[in-house]
Amino acid sequence: MNKTIKELQTGLAQGKFSSVEITSDYLTRIKQLNPDLNAFITVTEDQALLQAKAADQLIADGKTSALTGIPLAHKDIFCTDGVVTSCGSRMLENFKAPYNANVIDKFEAENAVMLGKTNMDEFAMGSSNESSFYGPVKNPWALNSVPGGSSGGSAAAVAAGLTPAATGTDTGGSIRQPAAFCGITGLKPTYGRVSRYGMIAYASSLDQGGPMAHTAEDCAIMLQSMAGFDSRDSTSMEKPVDNYSASLNNDIAGLKIGLPKEYFAEGLNSDVAKCVDEAIQQYQKMGAEVKEVSLPNSKIAIPAYYVVAMAECSSNLSRFDGVRFGHRCEDPKDLEDLYKRSRSEGFGEEVKRRIMIGAYTLSAGYYDAFYLKAQKLRRLISQDFASAFEQVDIIAGPTTPEVAWKTGDKSADPVSMYLQDIYTISVNLAGLPGMSIPAGFVGGKPVGLQLIGNYFDESRLLNAAHQFQQNTDWHSQSPEVK
Ligand code: GLN
Repeated sequence: MNKTIKELQTGLAQGKFSSVEITSDYLTRIKQLNPDLNAFITVTEDQALLQAKAADQLIADGKTSALTGIPLAHKDIFCTDGVVTSCGSRMLENFKAPYNANVIDKFEAENAVMLGKTNMDEFAMGSSNESSFYGPVKNPWALNSVPGGSSGGSAAAVAAGLTPAATGTDTGGSIRQPAAFCGITGLKPTYGRVSRYGMIAYASSLDQGGPMAHTAEDCAIMLQSMAGFDSRDSTSMEKPVDNYSASLNNDIAGLKIGLPKEYFAEGLNSDVAKCVDEAIQQYQKMGAEVKEVSLPNSKIAIPAYYVVAMAECSSNLSRFDGVRFGHRCEDPKDLEDLYKRSRSEGFGEEVKRRIMIGAYTLSAGYYDAFYLKAQKLRRLISQDFASAFEQVDIIAGPTTPEVAWKTGDKSADPVSMYLQDIYTISVNLAGLPGMSIPAGFVGGKPVGLQLIGNYFDESRLLNAAHQFQQNTDWHSQSPEVK
């Protein structure tokens, strides 16, 4: 069951199987494996079969789009009309969204099939999927280890063959890091490329939705459907969408790849470094030119990110007050009691920690010292990338400093968890596109190679990733889950 979207498209077009057949197969596999993996929060079985039936009719009538009849799963952060959209939180446990996110509308317009909603860290805050109200997700490669986060449910579901592909969101690495930990391919697009309308906000200036799949080719197909201007998202870019599949087979001879020296320094596990080095050598064999570059402000990315992200989350999550949105406590004494108890009961520990830190950094007297300063650092980080992209076409390095850790190993120490985002978060601070592609294994657990592109250069990233996948087979390996 590790078929790609591309293979399913071909099979459907040739009548080898119907959408109802493949949808049923995935639903059966979800029933078998989800109790162990906990990758799905909601499975929309009846709706999926109806959608598949409608898709089969369209296929029979020759009225198809790229994703007609293809089963997909969506991170439970995307609003889905009439279906619970929990964001991994007790706060939204009973929230049936009254409308679809833009991304969901786009998939529906192509008659894709939704299998269900995937587990995630609460409000997308985390790197391990342990902060979900619905319990931790397991990594299909090692059930005692984390799948990464916050889109860990989507990553585990794709890796274990519960869905051919899924959506994720990435605020500081939440598509790329779980993709790396689960041995799949994930793409965080340029900020503004994919509409955030109906995607529950964590940190609005950093959040971006994107595809998670087995291959770069599949990510290209999904991004094609997801990308584009949306007047309901004020940060959506009014810019034509490239044809992502058209450039996948471009020759990459002469492609200039920059290796940031700060990404290969202290803190990087030596076995992970070895896999990344071998991947770079593979690129050289394929004719790419490699050059060292420097991103001197990398070390300030983590503090800058956690100030910006927490400030924005404390503001975004103020809407969950038990009145306008979210869980409401029983028998409140008065309004203050209602707010206090609803929020205390509805939010988990990590979310509370972040709201408190964010409220502090935004408060009078501290705003200049923390928030404004973090915004200035953010500018420096963007400038580092701008200078690097004057010399190279893409930047490559590890996605994460180590492979998936054991569940529970870092949950008592939030700072050690925050430090794991070292290579991914500066990409969000700068608003650039980034990918993670499978590049080997350490102790049986997958390693991710990160590729970072210039603004709106997703085509070039996908091309570089696809060419790598034409010459390696890390992406086609599957975990043995039964
Ligand atoms: N691990 C990071 C955080 O906890 C990133 C999460 C994300 O990208 N949503 O904020």
